[in-house]
Amino acid sequence: MMDGAAPIDSLVDVLRAICDELPQHESRLNGLDAAVGDGDHGFTITRCCSAMGEQVGLFMDPSVGQALESVGMAVVARAGGASGALLGSALVAAGRSAAADGPAGAASAARMLDAAQRAVASRGRVEPGDKTMLDALLPAATEAGRVADAGGSVADVIGAAADAAERGAAATGDMIGRAGRAGRLGERSLGHPDPGAVSVALMLRIAADRLRSEGAT
Ligand code: ADP
Ligand code: MG
Repeated sequence: MMDGAAPIDSLVDVLRAICDELPQHESRLNGLDAAVGDGDHGFTITRCCSAMGEQVGLFMDPSVGQALESVGMAVVARAGGASGALLGSALVAAGRSAAADGPAGAASAARMLDAAQRAVASRGRVEPGDKTMLDALLPAATEAGRVADAGGSVADVIGAAADAAERGAAATGDMIGRAGRAGRLGERSLGHPDPGAVSVALMLRIAADRLRSEGAT
């Protein structure tokens, strides 16, 4: 997966970076959620990160699949909020995909993202365009698959996923909410990006930056 480091070490670095950096966006995410929901998405994300960080601290030489599944279950159990359950399920699905897959690498990373987006769509009962985190995660998975098929590295795959997720999150500003709390606002949600889509994009950006700085191949 990367020069000189096993995939699991690389994953642990990425998870640690997310746990450290994502909570720095707490108040901004609360502010985005105040416009279309109840103003607590940043708090949910901080709880997700605490649950993930604690689980990472308990790791005893897991595989990539086991690591992601265990952090996902911790997030489902402890993060709360609509987004905690969905993000946790996405991590569990990504872990199961990795466990069922061949060696870790770019193609496997892209399949993990695809499993994550399918978990959110089915568990959240949402479609693209409903103004949810799926509108960041689905384009991220699609781009990741394209870059993996073209022979890109893990860092290329996650970098492309982060770019697509940022574009997808920005595009949610032009969508009318059809799920969760934003769904109750309907047209009044127009002009405001979806907080869950923004946090998915932030997570992927942190992961991409980390992999890039470590020279992941
Ligand atoms: P809550 O809505 O319980 O307060 P959060 O504020 O933490 O939860 O998260 C809100 C985010 O959760 C939304 O911005 C959206 O991205 C995501 N979300 C909510 N409901 C759904 C759903 N049914 N499917 C997919 N994502 C959803
Ligand atoms: Mg909320």
